[in-house]
Amino acid sequence: MYFSTQGCARIHVRKGELDLQLELNNILFWVACDEHTIISCGQDYYSVLGVSKNASKSEIKSAYRKLARSYHPDVNKEPGAEQKFKEISNAYEVLSDDEKRSIYDRYGEAGLKGSMGMGDFSNPFDLFESLFDGLGGMGMGARGSRNRATEGEDQVYNLVLDFKEAIFGVEKEIEIMRLENCGTCDGSGAKPGTRTAKCSACGGQGQVVSSARTPLGVFQQIMPCSACGGAGETSTPCNTCGGDGRVRKSKRISLKVPAGVDSGSRLRVRSEGNAGRRGGPPGDLFVIIEVRPDPVLKRDDTNILYTCKVTYIDAILGTTLKVPTVDGMVDLKVPSGTQPGTTLVMAKKGVPFLNKSNMRGDQLVRVQVEIPKRLSGEERKLIEELANLNKAKAPNSRR
Ligand SMILES: [Zn+2]
Ligand SMILES: [Zn+2]
Repeated sequence: MYFSTQGCARIHVRKGELDLQLELNNILFWVACDEHTIISCGQDYYSVLGVSKNASKSEIKSAYRKLARSYHPDVNKEPGAEQKFKEISNAYEVLSDDEKRSIYDRYGEAGLKGSMGMGDFSNPFDLFESLFDGLGGMGMGARGSRNRATEGEDQVYNLVLDFKEAIFGVEKEIEIMRLENCGTCDGSGAKPGTRTAKCSACGGQGQVVSSARTPLGVFQQIMPCSACGGAGETSTPCNTCGGDGRVRKSKRISLKVPAGVDSGSRLRVRSEGNAGRRGGPPGDLFVIIEVRPDPVLKRDDTNILYTCKVTYIDAILGTTLKVPTVDGMVDLKVPSGTQPGTTLVMAKKGVPFLNKSNMRGDQLVRVQVEIPKRLSGEERKLIEELANLNKAKAPNSRR
């Protein structure tokens, strides 16, 4: 959707939401948008191209070529790149034309609406191709831009690991379902032996423009052509894949999980996502890790937390305990005079650093001192003796 206003509009788009709020003359509007929505509001064409107001024609051209090359959606997969590419294209179209440029300089975008018809820009891909001698010049193959190869979607796989598998790394064989190139039509989507024809609904453009007048201005929405699905051509669909060029298949992948991953870690396996359409590159596979907790050991990033209990006598006299660690049972020396709540550090008994597995965190052991609730007669006698001894030693300590 192209959106343009004559007045001054403020546009609020919340990240991750596809609705926008427009504030025009202190009235709020909500506009429902979809993935094809493009908002342009009083674009400054000079700043879109990053040139000054008195830039020469060749400066404008070289700015466009540079920007268009880096934002072309076949090259740049960042979200918003295609929209940016269109903005660059529109700006170039106006500034490269002396007449349009002088109207724009005097009256701004609103001036152009009278002379060009609103949003009446060339197809950005046609403009791009006219300047780059086709996509072949960029090493993108010489396919028409509207029937262009598209990258396969990324796939997500959730992998549950045991506590120690995440800590020390593991090799796992996983089975994924994904779209692979259809062998029958070799990914073209057309039934073998049939010919493709230009789509009559969109004239081969692959997209259609619909406009609607609203109090805010004219909304123009560019939609993929529904007759050809945006391909710009129609063909007898392949029986195996129904015309998509891809079929769902399962594949076993052996996955090397590095030491030190944690719940929420994301591993990227390149090119193991869905196959691309029409020869486009495949997407990636993202493996999201979830780690099963351990009943006694807790993980805190690269440290392991553990709580041990010692008797008050052991806390006073000191002792050596057997403590569970990710390396198995290990002796822990509790020094004499250990205070309740003390944290003892077992150096390098923690989690290997992700991608730096020769370094490890620590195991931190919190000492809980147990005071007996009941004493035997003999114990009581001994404690009382101890109390008397203490009194004799420090007669002023009790008030
Ligand atoms: Zn097929
Ligand atoms: Zn069409």
